Formats: sequence, structure tokens, C-alpha cells
Amino acid sequence: MLYKTLIIDNDTRFSHGLQESLPDFATIISDLSTTVDRVLEYDIYIIRFDPKTDTLIQELAKNNKLIIILTNKDTQSVREKILTYNITDYIVTNCQISKIFVVKTVQRIIQNSKKTILIVDDSKVILNKITMLLKIQNINYIECNNGKEALDYLDNPESKKIDLLMTDYEMPIINGYELVKKIRDNYSLEELPILVLSGSEDTYMISRFLKAGANDYITKPFLNEEFLARINNAISLSDMFEKVKNMAMTDQLTGLHNRTYFYDAGVKVLEMLQRAKQPLAIAMIDIDNFKKINDTYGHEVGDRALIHVASTITEALRKSDIFVRFGGEEFVILLPNCSHENALKTTNKICKIVADSTFTIDKQTSIQITISIGVATKTDTVDNMLNTADKLMYQAKQNGKNRVYTE
Ligand code: GH3
Ligand code: MG
Ligand code: MG
Ligand code: MG
Repeated sequence: MLYKTLIIDNDTRFSHGLQESLPDFATIISDLSTTVDRVLEYDIYIIRFDPKTDTLIQELAKNNKLIIILTNKDTQSVREKILTYNITDYIVTNCQISKIFVVKTVQRIIQNSKKTILIVDDSKVILNKITMLLKIQNINYIECNNGKEALDYLDNPESKKIDLLMTDYEMPIINGYELVKKIRDNYSLEELPILVLSGSEDTYMISRFLKAGANDYITKPFLNEEFLARINNAISLSDMFEKVKNMAMTDQLTGLHNRTYFYDAGVKVLEMLQRAKQPLAIAMIDIDNFKKINDTYGHEVGDRALIHVASTITEALRKSDIFVRFGGEEFVILLPNCSHENALKTTNKICKIVADSTFTIDKQTSIQITISIGVATKTDTVDNMLNTADKLMYQAKQNGKNRVYTE
């Protein structure tokens, strides 16, 4: 989504410099007396702190807008006044790099929309306070009233992916400590960071929590700024983990996922479909006479041929299909909710699209590449289905290549 941004600032040098650096297009208004009804259509507001903008800021906050305040005075009284507003953040603009802080805050707001925090607390008061803080950071949240509700949520395959779990200690049915222990049976510290909300009298409890696998804690009552800093830290940890994991599951040449990913995601999807009694197919694809391309035109052209085949097949697939480079010149597709007939239709279409496409080597030369496909449609384990598909692919090779074989 595009975030429409409005800058309200009478320091025009600052606002124009900022406008150029923001990720999405921003409008500038230099009149600080602008009224709320004229500017309600934006998502993010960057507003100069001034007696003239006081009402505007309050009105926008009431409308759940995302607000960043600029101030060049960093005194105690200014800080106190600013912290009475429900705003995302405030930035002191007394030096050259302040602009960068504003840009980073806007980027964080946009990134936050992809994050979901699961909050587990039996106190409505605490839940309200936390959700209010998350709203102004543009972070999504799910509320649970005890540990059991949280575990049920995490167990449900339909649930949204959680980036951070925050839990209270004392709760009915399953308390926070039991919850952390149970979660750590299935999720590592990086996969699902946990932040514990503890009362200030629970010092002994905190060390038990950390030993059981909590990442960090925050003592109630907390300052909003500390709360946000801890949340941001925990989220960046899971971000970093996600990036490393993605790299390990991606084929660098084609940009497709790799074999490791296939076993990880494929097994999960297959089990889910089996439980739901839904059909699926696994297709093993191998490029025909690929060695000849390497031998005739060189390895670099061979690499480009792999990219060509990968992107040609990708275009013919649905978003829910899992398509990976399995190794060398072999690819695998898992087609969920796909009957035997539909699997045949789809794979024959892919075979034809690849054969009909032209692979350009240079200005003078272009060639036709073909593939052979084996398709397993009898539901079994991932390994057994792959085995079957591989055998069928081999039969397709023996019987002339550029064709599909199924059970
Ligand atoms: P068939 O039609 O029976 O499948 O014959 P083929 O030549 O395609 O199969 P073969 O197994 O004999 O050769 C596969 C070749 O793919 C050998 C290997 O050097 C080449 N290859 C594997 N990975 C890569 C790669 O990443 N880049 C390039 N350029 N070549 C690769
Ligand atoms: Mg409680
Ligand atoms: Mg091969
Ligand atoms: Mg081959």
C-alpha cells in the first residue's frame, strides 16, 4: 500500500529536503494554522510542534492517524507536552542528520504494517494500553486472555504469522511461565521472540522466565518510550533471522526457492492437504540434453538457460504452487488442491510453453529448449511422491523426452 504523507512545517528548507528523501510521495503545507478538516486524507503526518499545531495534532490523533512531531527545542517541558499526544514518535531537528531520523521513522511505520504481535494478558486495562501503543506504531496485534488461548492460536494453521509474543505471568488456565516453556518446545528464540510483562516485585520470576526461554522482559508500569524500544529490538531480531533463513532457502542463480525450502514447506503443505482430504500433485522436471547446451555454448549460457526455463515456468503457475530448483537442471513443483486431471493439464501446458519459448543466446543464435516431466498424484509422503515423480520423469526421457508421464 502507498502511504500518503503530509508534512506541515514552516521550516521550508527542512521540509523540502525531507520530501526528497521519503519513500512515498509527500505533500508540504507551510501554514501551521491548517485545520484538520482540510487534511484528513493522509496516512502519515509529519508536523512541526508549535502552539498553532496543538489542536490539529490532537484532532488527528483522535482519528487514529500516524503522527511524527518535529521540534527544535529539546527541553523537559517540551518533551512532557509532546508525550501527552498519542503520536508515533517525535524528532529533534537541530542537526543535519535529523532528516535521516524522520525518514527512518517513516520506513519503520511502513515496515510495521507487516508485523503482528500476539499479546497475552488477562487484564483488560493492560491490553487496552498496549494495543493503543501498537496502533500508533502501525503494528498489527492479536489479543489473548490466557496461555491456552495463545497456544490454540499458534497451533491453528489458519492463524497469521506472529513476529513477537508478549505475555503476562499470572493468568488463568495456563500462566505465562508455562506458556513460554510450551512455546519453546516448538519455536526457537529467533523464530518467535517472547517479551515478558512482569510486575516490579517479580525479580525472581524474571530470571526463571529468561531461563525458560523468554528473550526480554519489561516491568509494569512502563514508560511508553522504553516499551517501544524493547518491541523494536525484539522485532529486528526476528527480521534478521528471517533474512538469513530466506538466504539459506533460496537458489542464488534463478532466485527460486531450493531443495531445503521444498522439504520444509512441502511437508507442511502436504500434511495440511492430507488432513483436509484435498488432492495434490508433485511434478519432477528435468531439462532435456542440457549437457549439450553447456558443451556447445559454454557454462555461462547454460546458466542463462536455467534462468530462462525457471522464469518461463513461473509465469505459468499459480501463486499457491511451490516451485523450486531441486538441483542442477532439475525443478520440482508441488501443486496443491490439484486433481490428477488438472495436474496433467497444467504440466502438459508447462511442457508446451517451454518448448514453444525461444531462448536467445546472442543476436544471431536462438534455440528451443525442452523439458521432461514426471507427475505423482497418489498422495503419499513427500519422499515417496518425489521418488515416483522421478521414476516417471525417467520414463518420459526414455520414451522420447519433451513429454509428461504420470501414474
Ligand atoms: P537428459 O536429457 O537425459 O536430462 O540429459 P542432460 O544432458 O540434460 O543431463 P545430464 O545429467 O547428462 O547433464 C546435466 C548437466 O547439467 C551436467 C551439469 O554440468 C549441468 N549443470 C548442473 N548444474 C548446472 C548449473 O548450475 N549451471 C550450468 N551451466 N550447468 C549445470
Ligand atoms: Mg495477570
Ligand atoms: Mg538431471
Ligand atoms: Mg537433463
